Amino acid sequence: MPRKKLNVLNQSDQPWFKDGLSFTCTQCGNCCTGGPGYVWVSDEEVDRLAEHFGLSREETIRKHVRMIQGRMSLKEKRDQRGEYPCVFLTDLGDGKRGCAIYKVRPLQCRTWPFWDGNLDTPGGWKRAGKTCPGLNTGRHFSLEQIIALRDAEDWPDRTVTPTSPNGQKAMSDD
Ligand code: SF4
Ligand code: SF4
Repeated sequence: MPRKKLNVLNQSDQPWFKDGLSFTCTQCGNCCTGGPGYVWVSDEEVDRLAEHFGLSREETIRKHVRMIQGRMSLKEKRDQRGEYPCVFLTDLGDGKRGCAIYKVRPLQCRTWPFWDGNLDTPGGWKRAGKTCPGLNTGRHFSLEQIIALRDAEDWPDRTVTPTSPNGQKAMSDD
């Protein structure tokens, strides 16, 4: 009789976040603005945006996307504070900001803060927490959920997606 393969890692192979991490967005909006950056979008995501706006793919790209070395990124604008918010960052009042395209926001935004750079070391997670007050608060994500988000190649399962209204711009030096 074949032995059942156990899907477990040795204790020494476990990442530092083996017990999971907590995150709930406070809607501060910090992650969708700041210095110049990129919000990468795939072909499929542009199609979803086009459907959302009732525009053609070409018109969607013309209005909302810029090309960076052959890749597509959402446009940003320079505001009065000298920051570069994503064009879809919206003032919600009471000091809160949210995403105007929340239902169709790109994978990059859906998977924040569970990015490689934040998860590589506890220090990376701590650094991310300097701009994102939602880290280490609220909803608990298991190791499996975190890995699913970190490694997602398209919109992840909705039961796993963080419930934040916002995502995160990748800064220019990422
Ligand atoms: S994800 Fe973090 S930085 Fe972005 S809006 Fe939410 S709390 Fe603020
Ligand atoms: S969540 Fe993404 S698409 Fe929405 S405002 Fe923030 S950076 Fe832009």
